[in-house]
Amino acid sequence: MGSDGTQLHMFLFPFLAQGHIIPIVDMAKLFASRGVKITIVTTPLNAISISKSIHKAKSLAAPQIELLILEFPTAEAGLPDGCENADSITSLDLLPKFFKALSLLQAPLEQAVLEKRPHCLLADTFFPWTDDVAAKFGILRLVFHGTSFFSLSATEFMRIHEPYKHVSSDTEPFLIPHLPGEIKFTKMQLPEFIRENAKSEFSELLNRVKESESKCYGVVVNSFYELEADYADCYRNVLGKKAWHIGPLSLCNKGTEEKAQRGSESAIDEHECLKWLDSKKPNSVVYVCFGSMAKFNSAQLKEIANGLEASGQQFIWVVRKGKEEEDDGDWLPEGFEQRMEGKGLIIRGWAPQVLILDHPAVGGFVTHCGWNSTLEGVAAGVPMVTWPVSAEQFYNEKLVTQVLKSGVPVGVQKWVRTVGDFIKREAVEKAIRRIMEGEEGEEMRKRATELAEMARRAVAEDGSSYSDLDALIKELKSSAV
Ligand code: UDP
Repeated sequence: MGSDGTQLHMFLFPFLAQGHIIPIVDMAKLFASRGVKITIVTTPLNAISISKSIHKAKSLAAPQIELLILEFPTAEAGLPDGCENADSITSLDLLPKFFKALSLLQAPLEQAVLEKRPHCLLADTFFPWTDDVAAKFGILRLVFHGTSFFSLSATEFMRIHEPYKHVSSDTEPFLIPHLPGEIKFTKMQLPEFIRENAKSEFSELLNRVKESESKCYGVVVNSFYELEADYADCYRNVLGKKAWHIGPLSLCNKGTEEKAQRGSESAIDEHECLKWLDSKKPNSVVYVCFGSMAKFNSAQLKEIANGLEASGQQFIWVVRKGKEEEDDGDWLPEGFEQRMEGKGLIIRGWAPQVLILDHPAVGGFVTHCGWNSTLEGVAAGVPMVTWPVSAEQFYNEKLVTQVLKSGVPVGVQKWVRTVGDFIKREAVEKAIRRIMEGEEGEEMRKRATELAEMARRAVAEDGSSYSDLDALIKELKSSAV
């Protein structure tokens, strides 16, 4: 109950991309399981997968989570029909239009807040204008970034100190100042708009995001304290942010159905997938997936196929192709599927990732280091091959390979939006062998298993994340008007 005796009511408003929607839906289930009334704010097309996911949450008293659907102004913003999610942004010129459409949601959101009167608005970092909404109605606003304490801290130190301005080349390593662990970075691993010091609508948005964050009540982080204690402390104590860690959020999904229904419609029947995995020995399959946004070209896909074959490992490989490759069958080496029959499973489209990662047969994960995937890999206790593409993924790679030491880099040098830097087959083979074979692989597996146990303890009753969620709810209740 709030301080006035009513049930605490929160609006959760995720950015329209699966990497943001999925953890917020998990968060909704978590809050609801602690008696908080939740309204998830989204748009018509995104509502389809969200409601499917909520319906499968058997553990829940259903009425605790409602969906509030705002019409998405595609036409008004000059977007093509049906373009309601970042994964349908196929060219860069659509990006400013997409953000324009998002900002047009301010008026309908205000109307909804006026009608429903939530106590708190937890909004994605990419909706900086929600600070005005919260201020207008005098409600609390929390921010969700969807990434680790490590990368939140690294990004902030990078922004404040700009160490990349003092190197003589794009490949010269420099230390990220003040970040614990002496972490080195290169200019090439930074987003192009930072590298090129270019002013764009996106860099303007990021400035607005910073300004807005300084006015929020606090930040909710999908992580757990034991995973990155130095960085959680740094974020709170050195950078002075008020933050709660309540993850790994994916661990709130219990049964097969619930795990299988996260995100988009799966391209494979979950039972068929489990049957395939059931026929394999423990830790004998490597799972390869690059999240919801990355789309490699045919040449890169071919290198991955050849690398996988040369590694001699069994695999599940999730393939999301770029536009020009969609109808082009020429991305697999000749005879690959015949040779790999029974040994490798290709999923063309969306995979039930957490279901796969949690299967005992899966013993390694080749990941693009999106934070959700990284943390799901940690929670599943698998060593990882890190293959960052863009966003803040290069920071997450450093956390896995240099701090947690539960993975090895495939060797990506450069941040390249969506299509990624080019990696050769030999590097793919070598990195996969390192996590799946030999003493080094065993060491990483041991470490990964320990981290997974810590993750489970963190979300169990009285664990660090469980307690931080409790503290957050208590604080919201006592501050709610
Ligand atoms: N995911 C999935 N199946 C896929 C691809 C992605 O279930 O085929 C899920 C994955 O489990 C994770 C999210 O989508 O929860 C992707 O988020 P992440 O932060 O890893 O990467 P992004 O997609 O934002 O780059």
